[in-house]
Amino acid sequence: SDEREILTWQGYGEASRELAQMVVDDGYEPDLVVAVARGGLPVGGAISYALGTKGVGTLNVEFYTGVDERLPAPVVLPPLLDTESMRGMKVLVADDVADTGETLALVKSLMEQYAAEVRTVVLYAKSRSVIDPDYVWKRTDLWITFPWSALPPVTPNKPHPELG
Ligand code: 5GP
Repeated sequence: SDEREILTWQGYGEASRELAQMVVDDGYEPDLVVAVARGGLPVGGAISYALGTKGVGTLNVEFYTGVDERLPAPVVLPPLLDTESMRGMKVLVADDVADTGETLALVKSLMEQYAAEVRTVVLYAKSRSVIDPDYVWKRTDLWITFPWSALPPVTPNKPHPELG
């Protein structure tokens, strides 16, 4: 269908605080928040501030090429996290949405080879996800429009003087 779930910037701010509250109320105290790039970057940043967690990292995973168009499998892209420095840590993996859940499942299994404990937090989870994240703000099966990717990248609105 053409129906979309729309997240506003305001909604993103509120959701991030609510997710951090769920983590704290659950007694989980992560040493490191790993944001899955790019969609997990805004979420991971806001949650790390809301938790007061100074340890942050990011892992770049590519899977989607368009609305519901995917590569055969999620692929981890460079630069890579220094996984050795993660030994014994409690990790919180943050992402925008667990849709098929394959991205989050891949990242979780990678981190679990090094970390003491790995939990996952997402703004949205869909019912088909192969992984049920530990902390979920909202469940939907619609295609979601996020505030950071609602518009196409900006383009120059003035020609550069030297290029005429
Ligand atoms: P998954 O591996 O769970 O299928 O999804 C991986 C990534 O694809 C998500 O982190 C997100 O960046 C993108 N994605 C999946 N579903 C949606 C959606 O409904 N809307 C948007 N904007 N991106 C999505």
